[in-house]
Amino acid sequence: MHQIVIKNGLIPGFSEGLQKLNVAIDNGLITAVASNLLAGEYVIDAEEKYVSPGFIDIHMHTYPFDQTGYIETLNAMALMGVTTVLDGHCGLGKSDFMKSEMIFLEKPSPVNYSSLVGHLSLRMMVGCSDLFSPASEDDITAMALLLQQALNAGAPGLSFSLEYVPGTSLKEQLTLSEAVAAYPGRMVTTHFRYDADRALEAVGEMILVARKTGVKYQASHIGSCAAYGQMNKALQMLEAARLDGVDIMTDIYPYSSFMTAIGSPVFSPGCIERWKANYEDLYIIDGRHKGKRCNQDRFNEIRENEPSVMVMAEVMNEAEIEAAICHPLAMVASDGMLFDGQGHPRGAGAFPRFLGRYVRDRALMDWPAAIDKISAMPAMRLGLGNRGVIKKGYSADITIFDPKKVIDCSTSAEPAKAPLGIETVLVGGVETVKAGRLTGKANGKFLKHKLCRV
Ligand SMILES: [Zn+2]
Repeated sequence: MHQIVIKNGLIPGFSEGLQKLNVAIDNGLITAVASNLLAGEYVIDAEEKYVSPGFIDIHMHTYPFDQTGYIETLNAMALMGVTTVLDGHCGLGKSDFMKSEMIFLEKPSPVNYSSLVGHLSLRMMVGCSDLFSPASEDDITAMALLLQQALNAGAPGLSFSLEYVPGTSLKEQLTLSEAVAAYPGRMVTTHFRYDADRALEAVGEMILVARKTGVKYQASHIGSCAAYGQMNKALQMLEAARLDGVDIMTDIYPYSSFMTAIGSPVFSPGCIERWKANYEDLYIIDGRHKGKRCNQDRFNEIRENEPSVMVMAEVMNEAEIEAAICHPLAMVASDGMLFDGQGHPRGAGAFPRFLGRYVRDRALMDWPAAIDKISAMPAMRLGLGNRGVIKKGYSADITIFDPKKVIDCSTSAEPAKAPLGIETVLVGGVETVKAGRLTGKANGKFLKHKLCRV
């Protein structure tokens, strides 16, 4: 008699296709995957549903831990079928990994969690606050020491944001990436330096750092970098580098809009022309003009006076988003973050949207290949060991969804609205989502890399 049995579901296998199999779970682990009947104390009937490895979000954000947005975002992740997340991207992760763990443990989380160290946070720690100047030799040395402390404590790696910290020098990137490369399995993720007409230059810079340091490298959210006419070339560059032995991959959120603060360098003069867009493509998320679109005057006025107002920019080419989603070097991630019900709809919709809109409705790929991009692939990339596959001995992180119903419901007007079709989510064998709703049970673990320095 097993503690939990999931019966009658279809399990996607990357090489085997969909197979009707039953799954047994005991003490948080998958203990049997079999075609014969299994007896359980608690039985979940997954008839006509897909029993998938829990989704792994390799690129997401949370607001600082001490604000409510932290758990709000993680709850939205669970409702999307996500069971493990990697936070701390785009330079923003905390510099002190041990502190991240202490804070995490204070408040139960519905999903497994880890966070990269943020380059911007390291800069702030060493007093290098001018975002437009390169760090000095001494500052780089001091940052590398802090980074090593975090890596010794099990941090999965480091994130850069070259667009938001334009002063970041090549030397700074190389030294800190080398420090990460000294720890096998750890990674560097980078928010590109330029988008649109300079996207290929930005991709070239990321490939150069990956090549020179040999570090495992993730070019973050390639859509907002290159979906303005440069995507095919950008993907070809990554492919060529990969064939040449450079360990670089990418991720993409399944939307043709991005979101950031109107005062950020992303909206520096010339951006509208560069994106071949209009001011009306910018949708205002918060502040006095919430829910309105920009025009030139409104844009200038808000950028000047309320630089922290968030704007959703509907400026990317859909066909190029699709091309990136389909590419074998790309994983699908959310880049999501919610705070007080506000944010880009990807924070509550990315994974159901990928499955419902792009896999089912637009038939960009088959189900097993799609599920691979959001489970086994990121699990391998992150070195998560026994996660990301439905297999005996693996952690019982499992998402049961209805392939006919799954779809995102979050919109720019209602960004936190939960999706449809994500029925049950188990995290370490604990039922975190049942009938599409949170159960209130929170079994997420703080994930650390084991220390294995060469
Ligand atoms: Zn970013």
